[in-house]
Amino acid sequence: MRALLFLKGGIGDVVFSLPLVADLRAGWPGVEVWALTHAQGKGVLDLCPDVARTLSYGPVSTEPRLGALVSAVQGQRFDAALTPVRSPRAAWLLWKSKAPVRAGFRGGPEALLYTHRAPVRPFEVTFSRRLERLAAALGLAVLGRPAPLLVSPARRAQAVQTLRAAGWDAESPLVALHAGGGWPTKQWPVEHAAALAAALARRHGLRTLLLGGTADRPRAEAIAAASGGAALVQVGRPVEEALAQVDLCTAAVGLDSGLSHAGVALGVPTVSLFGPNDPRSIQLAPTQRLLVQEGLACRPCNRLGKLGCPLGHHRCMRDTTAAQVLAALEPLLALGELRLRERA
Ligand code: SF4
Repeated sequence: MRALLFLKGGIGDVVFSLPLVADLRAGWPGVEVWALTHAQGKGVLDLCPDVARTLSYGPVSTEPRLGALVSAVQGQRFDAALTPVRSPRAAWLLWKSKAPVRAGFRGGPEALLYTHRAPVRPFEVTFSRRLERLAAALGLAVLGRPAPLLVSPARRAQAVQTLRAAGWDAESPLVALHAGGGWPTKQWPVEHAAALAAALARRHGLRTLLLGGTADRPRAEAIAAASGGAALVQVGRPVEEALAQVDLCTAAVGLDSGLSHAGVALGVPTVSLFGPNDPRSIQLAPTQRLLVQEGLACRPCNRLGKLGCPLGHHRCMRDTTAAQVLAALEPLLALGELRLRERA
């Protein structure tokens, strides 16, 4: 049996599909899950042993043309096709896949093209659970646990080489820190990030890897400069390479970002800093700790405060200090060391 999963959105939206992938694999033993998504999502799902094949329609920033989507799956036989994307184009793609079983969400006329429809309401705030409604609509058990992400030894060796070329001594333990975070209001102030990198080096001999997209370079360079040499800039790497670097790390400091959520899915112990968004949108992993400014009445402000803090003070991220992050991270370091030892 073969199932097609069509995904759009950001990197995080693809990471949040991992529990759905696990449901499909458990509910339909032997199913080959194929995923069609953007290039960055492909970089994530290429690390998932439960996804047999990943296809890309182009960069995450592009709106896929229907013709390109259809030609990506043409000539293939699918027994089932499903998508959380609520659009006529997504429904038409599923129809054109000729899969006899097609699942998507209710709520629009395109749902007529589906054989199985998942409810949109009541609103489900946790993204991955929202996606798992597709499994429930297909009559499959909802397990609530993600399919794994695994970095191959070859990718890991390549990441070591890249970091060595960038000045890592291959001995100092590493901590990943996401320098960007997409929306400006999700970002952690440069001075806090630099203070954390310096403290991690001073107290634990840890080198901080600054990861993110190309647009995050100025922030990453400012953090590295202010950290006194404690941080290594590695922004702009393809997602699969960035994740191979995260996989080498003892622990990570993440934001509400796709790259950070993918690091958690790899099993890297992570402290996640949430500002304007609702932390209930993620399902917390056992090795993940949240830092949220609980006392702020303005949060979460979600999309209202996407480009700038509507109140002007951005306290949801500014009030989270390097000392607080360090205190949350330190108990995770032993876990991270154990993970790396067990894998060696
Ligand atoms: S309004 Fe509050 S939650 Fe929104 S960005 Fe500003 S400080 Fe953060």
